[in-house]
Amino acid sequence: MLRIMLFNQTDNLYEQGLAALENAKIVAPSPQTADIIRRKIGHNLADVDVLTISKFLKDELSVLVGDEVSQNYRGKSDLLLLLSTLWKKLGLENPSYELFQRCFHLLTDLRSFSMSDDVLETALEHFDDSIALGTIRMHQILNQLDIYDEHRSYFQLSEVLRSGEIPIDFKTERNIVFLGFDFLSASQVDLLRSYSIRDNIVLPVYQRVYESLSDWDWLSWLDSDQVEKEYVDEERPRKSIEISTFPRNYLSKSLKGILEKRIGSNTQIILGDRHPNFEKLQQANLSKAKFKASVDILSDKVNWLMETVSDGEFETTEELLDELERLTWHCVEAQDFRAIKAIQLLKNVVNEWRELSEDNETVSQFDLKIFKETLSLDSPRVSKTSLSMEKFNVEIKSLKELEDVSRQSSKIFCVSSDFTSPKGSLTTYTEGVEKYLSSIGPLRRAELEYIALREKVLDVLDENSLALIEDGVLDRDQNWKDLFDCVDLKDVSNTMSFEKETVYHPVPKDKAFASFSPFSSTKIQTYIDCPQKFFYKYGLKYSPDYTFKDRMQALELGRVQHKTIEDYVNNFSHYSEQDHWNLVGELLLKALDEKEVSLAATADYKHEIFNLTQVAIQELLRIKSSSEFVVKFEQGIGQKGFRGSIDCVIETPDDIFLVDFKRGKGSIPSQKGFKSFEKIQLWFYANHWERKSKNLCLGYICLSEMEESTLYFGSSDSKERFKGIFGAKAISIEKGFEELFDKYKEFEAQTIGRIESDQVFRAEPQSSNVCGFCDFNKTCSRAGGF
Ligand code: SF4
Repeated sequence: MLRIMLFNQTDNLYEQGLAALENAKIVAPSPQTADIIRRKIGHNLADVDVLTISKFLKDELSVLVGDEVSQNYRGKSDLLLLLSTLWKKLGLENPSYELFQRCFHLLTDLRSFSMSDDVLETALEHFDDSIALGTIRMHQILNQLDIYDEHRSYFQLSEVLRSGEIPIDFKTERNIVFLGFDFLSASQVDLLRSYSIRDNIVLPVYQRVYESLSDWDWLSWLDSDQVEKEYVDEERPRKSIEISTFPRNYLSKSLKGILEKRIGSNTQIILGDRHPNFEKLQQANLSKAKFKASVDILSDKVNWLMETVSDGEFETTEELLDELERLTWHCVEAQDFRAIKAIQLLKNVVNEWRELSEDNETVSQFDLKIFKETLSLDSPRVSKTSLSMEKFNVEIKSLKELEDVSRQSSKIFCVSSDFTSPKGSLTTYTEGVEKYLSSIGPLRRAELEYIALREKVLDVLDENSLALIEDGVLDRDQNWKDLFDCVDLKDVSNTMSFEKETVYHPVPKDKAFASFSPFSSTKIQTYIDCPQKFFYKYGLKYSPDYTFKDRMQALELGRVQHKTIEDYVNNFSHYSEQDHWNLVGELLLKALDEKEVSLAATADYKHEIFNLTQVAIQELLRIKSSSEFVVKFEQGIGQKGFRGSIDCVIETPDDIFLVDFKRGKGSIPSQKGFKSFEKIQLWFYANHWERKSKNLCLGYICLSEMEESTLYFGSSDSKERFKGIFGAKAISIEKGFEELFDKYKEFEAQTIGRIESDQVFRAEPQSSNVCGFCDFNKTCSRAGGF
């Protein structure tokens, strides 16, 4: 039987839901989660056994399938060595490392859906021939050699359970709880269903996550009439927490001030980051706080070692091993123990690889890259932690340890722009592949994983909690905003004293500069971002202009994407995947004319361009099909003294819609930033475009995540006419739109006035984010240069 246990508060799940299960086996996705569950259970549930999914799998395989699987089982690093050895014999036209990597990752992904050749072949029809061939050949090799990887083990176990051929003394009717999983692949879903034939399978899920399911989510694949649902507790009441803000880069200082006022009380600091590392934890003022952060202690030594051996001219494996021996002695003399460990690991990898084939007596650069990847998988996982004879009053945790946060302590939940957004991005396939795969098994969905994370955060926060948020993050990141909209926030002040003010060296204007005209939106924006950056770029013309021969830069990729949208919409009236692929291939070929880019990278670019332009093209074709709308691209600004080109203009008898395409959401301003002219691009176009007394509409279209696109409408009629376009957020600023536009005009005129009259250009960035992306951040006066 399969039981979905719906809960709202973790405490209730443990105290009411899990406590009622006798002799339960709790299966966790990772050792860390298993530890947390053990700590939470403590001595309360003595008859409960907590284990990781890999241990569970291993135990069950040995009982149900025997030694055959364990003997033929290969982990990821073994598979890498084996398949890379066979890769060169597949007869591919260009068996590069990049192509291997792509095929290898695709293989692992697709095998999580099915082991069937037919399924893989159908999914691979949507990929480049070289990728499809490389991937299917690797899959066939694994099957021919009867190799078991993680997914084949799941499917094999499911098959045995379904067949009924199980040992007579095999225990059944067990209570097996799968706890802490945010996603299960098709092979895992299949396994759970197979177990539910004889055992009592329990899957605890937040109620709100369950209520937000779509048909292709993993939980929907488990759901059926036979599945029992059990409600553990009532809906969580709305909570109330305190909130305070801090300026960027002042998290540590701000925390210090708050902690000083709480001496003696137990406090847990929760960093709002999904991938915490030691550097991020340091932002939270580590002294006298308990923390644990994973660190890769060998990464620098592995890099050094691989660079050293890559520079050496070895032809044979024996020569490489001799060199490793020589390096070992050198490191022994230098007492560099971490380097010795890295060399030892590499020796093991090389020896293991050598035994795989007689051809492995010679070593190529391809093999060295595989060794490096294998080494990073085999490197020991260690954590840094703080030690003290005294008890810690302050503990630092991250989003990964939310279940471990103590309810009794007071909590400070920190959000800074340096942390990851709560909604991650997932690898997406083209629409055709997604459509096909979604009929075979579940697909991961960023939105569902975000909802799961939001529920965990809301579960932990209570009246003893303070949200400490960097200024402006809630305006810029809609996901954080949505999360904190679910609680009542009570503002509390957090004053910090800054005794020291630094004045950075301003750069004087040379008398030779008469005017900076003509003005473009980028030029004015650069001045708004930082006057000194502006002067370096447009005055002294220091801005480096470099292009890479072996890759495409974001700007170059952006140009091909824009051109793809423009050419498709101008030349076709209906959408066809084939025509789209052909056009992308043609334009990409032109863009790569003078470059030397590998086939695998070209295939990646092709997919990216295709994926990022598909929805925009379909939407624009839909609009264009109505005679009311006229769509034009790359429209230049004709006004004297100004320069620029608008990506797309959509005109109706009553509206002018100015559209700018962005590759990612990072360059789209928040609503507040838009209204306060932090980013002026669309306002600038509006100001210098022939409006013909029509309603103005301005829109940023985010090609990688359409739902992040933002459209502004000065009239509700226009908003209605463009309803649903691009699936974007439509914001009406009907009230006061014209006043706001007038304000912009004044702002632009004043800024241009300042640009022309400034005699010195100060290092005054609008925000420290600007410095992060500035070409001069290693040399300007703020960074200690000049
Ligand atoms: S690094 Fe920052 S302060 Fe320096 S020029 Fe660039 S934006 Fe301005």
